[in-house]
Amino acid sequence: MKMRHSYVGFLLFCALFAFALAAHAQDKVDLSNSQMPSVVTIPPEAQPSDHFDPKAARDAYLAQIPAAARARSDAYFEGGYWFLLWDFLMAVVMYWAILHFGWSGKMRDFAERLTRFKFLQTFIYWAEFLLLTSIIEFPLGVYEGYFREHKYGLATQTFGPWMGDQLKGLLIGLILGGLIVMALVAIVRKLPRTWHIWGAIVTMLFMIFTVMIAPVYLVPIFNKVTRLDDPKVTAPILSLARANGIPAHDVFKIDASRQSTRMSANVSGFGKTMRITLNDNLLRRGSPEEIQSVMGHEMGHYVLNHIYKSMIFFLVVIVTGFALLRWAMEWALAGHGERWGVRGMTDVAALPLVFLLGTLFFFVLTPIMNTYSRAEEAEADMFGLNASRQPDGFAQAAVHLGEYRKMSPGRVEEWIFYDHPSGRNRIYASMRWKAENLQLFKDSAGH
Ligand SMILES: [Zn+2]
Repeated sequence: MKMRHSYVGFLLFCALFAFALAAHAQDKVDLSNSQMPSVVTIPPEAQPSDHFDPKAARDAYLAQIPAAARARSDAYFEGGYWFLLWDFLMAVVMYWAILHFGWSGKMRDFAERLTRFKFLQTFIYWAEFLLLTSIIEFPLGVYEGYFREHKYGLATQTFGPWMGDQLKGLLIGLILGGLIVMALVAIVRKLPRTWHIWGAIVTMLFMIFTVMIAPVYLVPIFNKVTRLDDPKVTAPILSLARANGIPAHDVFKIDASRQSTRMSANVSGFGKTMRITLNDNLLRRGSPEEIQSVMGHEMGHYVLNHIYKSMIFFLVVIVTGFALLRWAMEWALAGHGERWGVRGMTDVAALPLVFLLGTLFFFVLTPIMNTYSRAEEAEADMFGLNASRQPDGFAQAAVHLGEYRKMSPGRVEEWIFYDHPSGRNRIYASMRWKAENLQLFKDSAGH
């Protein structure tokens, strides 16, 4: 019996490896001479005139992207759809195997042999589980996160530092994941009838805690965050902040170029740790107008309270998830628990089932989570245009972000896969804004 199980385990591992190879084969693309234009000029169609047409202006912006660059970013982004599927299938098969072959029960038995203390048993189980799943997922992860990123020219790290970051992430997962798993297992044991409610509340509080500590304690583990000290850049940004009632005295800069060539900025943290950060790629490659438009967008997230609203949204998702989890776990354990060697709901060996069901839940929810995010991003876009009054800067940013996002998806495609509005729609929104505020540009152009 033992022999057969380890044999099946090996086969499974091979199958997952084949997955990675299949994924590799399906996203072959010619990458020669396919960079996005670094300087995006304002095309004639987007210059202020009496016959300014937002659609023509948008198309003129899109036409600046060389066909090869477009093919490359389309291939990268569409490949991502498949990885969504591969990652999902891989996770489902893996968690199922850990249950089906009794590995979960064995890991629990091992933890119980090491110590009498329940809390410690839970933590040891978590460490075993995390290590096992990380090893199984490694082949696909290393392709997706390292080789593929290099292939598309998006990664800047060599393998050593990349691996170092992975190990740091694993350690954080060990500590933070260990804490939440210990708390949740204790809740299931102490409150067998209402654990799904308390579990949801504790998970939510834990998420808030993580978001709060992230900018100050987690981000610096991977990157260097410094105060931006160049008044040429910070003065217009801080002016924009003051004009919009944001009590910021500093703008932060992160050395994202350590890992990637992607341009981005973000609002992170919660309460006193909330801050606006722009990455060094944006700073290096973006024009002043582009930087201001992106900062306007980030300030939109702040002023429109997106962090708080997202938390309410997540609360709904998590409460629903826990209710479904309880129902599905009772059903699954009644039918298969004994065969899996899982003693019941209070047994930590049921954890792979929690992950299996959670993976299913969030896979199905993908379009809803993306649509929620995309709606907030569109709001921030509008706020950013109104605040910064840099429609051409924002169109330029949309082209640059198109290096890793497909510019012109179909309607359904955007609905399912996009957590930000597509570049095409962002440029259109910018040009629409410009059309309605043409006076501002006619004056400055001296007409
Ligand atoms: Zn945003």
